[in-house]
Amino acid sequence: MKVGKCIFSTILYIKKGRSKMKIRYFDNAATTKVKKEVVDKMFPYFVESYGNPSSLYTLGRTAKVGIEEARKHVANLINCDKNEIYFTSGGTESDNTALKGIMHVSKNKGKHMITTKIEHHAILNSCKTLEEHGCKVTYLNVDKEGIINLEELVNAITKDTVLISVMFANNEIGSIQPIKKIGEIAKEKGIIFHTDAVQACGNVKIDVKEMNIDMLSLSGHKIGAPKGIGALYVNKNIEFKNLIDGGHQERDKRAGTENVPGMIGLGEACKIAKNNIELHINKMKELRDFYFSEVQNQIPDIKINGSMEHRLPGNSNISFKGINGSELLMKLDEKGICASAGSACSSESSMPSHVLTAIGLTSEYAEGTLRVTFGDENTKEDVEYLVENLTQIVKEIRNKDI
Ligand SMILES: *Cc1c(COP(=O)(O)O)cnc(C)c1O
Repeated sequence: MKVGKCIFSTILYIKKGRSKMKIRYFDNAATTKVKKEVVDKMFPYFVESYGNPSSLYTLGRTAKVGIEEARKHVANLINCDKNEIYFTSGGTESDNTALKGIMHVSKNKGKHMITTKIEHHAILNSCKTLEEHGCKVTYLNVDKEGIINLEELVNAITKDTVLISVMFANNEIGSIQPIKKIGEIAKEKGIIFHTDAVQACGNVKIDVKEMNIDMLSLSGHKIGAPKGIGALYVNKNIEFKNLIDGGHQERDKRAGTENVPGMIGLGEACKIAKNNIELHINKMKELRDFYFSEVQNQIPDIKINGSMEHRLPGNSNISFKGINGSELLMKLDEKGICASAGSACSSESSMPSHVLTAIGLTSEYAEGTLRVTFGDENTKEDVEYLVENLTQIVKEIRNKDI
């Protein structure tokens, strides 16, 4: 740990020519710091219980036992059976498996699926591939707040529809979809319902039984576990085709020697999330609402994007009129502040994201968009520091351009 820290501050020193800049991290929708308890729980599986879980001797069985314990914790977080959880390499693989795995086995029943215009690219690009293979995809619109219209969903259903995939909560603007109602509609029509809950897990209470969710994707690195581990929940009555062929791991549904420490870490992160969810939600809401009110008080010509009512507790997304988003991010970085212009996937391009386009944001606002997503480590003092610098920087950029 000490060595890592040392290297990190050295890099910062070289880059900025100053030492010991405190980092204020407000990009928890892009990834989160791995929790200390998670690292501690994982550590023995690197150096002690390092056996292959498929091996029959004790060292292998210990790893296997650890995995099954972790699987239980993941299942508990969303209220499913532990045998309905498949570990994957992350949210992207879970999304790919869900969509391709269902459309493949449903070929004879129908080739149509429904999703939304504001999904993560793991969903949108899987849909593109499916379309190249003869599937038909309907992309639902969203309203100004980023929420789908249930009537439009019902009208999009045809006798050929086999799958509905609607994200639980959006990664850019934090809007939460009417998941339980979508589940009811899908159930009534006998259509499989998948949700990308990567952003929602640990931040919203999820009960797949009560919400009629058939399949759900989640990812480790968005909830305090490492990158490269995730899970897919599939209701035990649903058949799907595996994406990766090989050995018999994950009950023949996901081949490849298990990422044991990753699975252990994800299990621990889910356990912590489940135990702390109420506290976590309240703390995130408090920080976010303080940030919203401070920005509204200090900075003119802004727009808060997304819904105020149906929103992830730790998400804020604000557009500043006449501001260049990447310039804003660079100036914030100079103050040790990490935030995002939209989603991590669109940070390289200056085009407004597909999500901001879908909610109808005009370009004079969309180009100056700042996503600030809070985490457990943030304090009120961090937010004060952020608002103070943000106010100053926005003023500077606006004055310069006049
Ligand atoms: C981060 C994210 C993903 C991708 O998860 P990875 O584990 O990074 O592959 C998918 N969907 C949403 C909504 C996300 O925020």
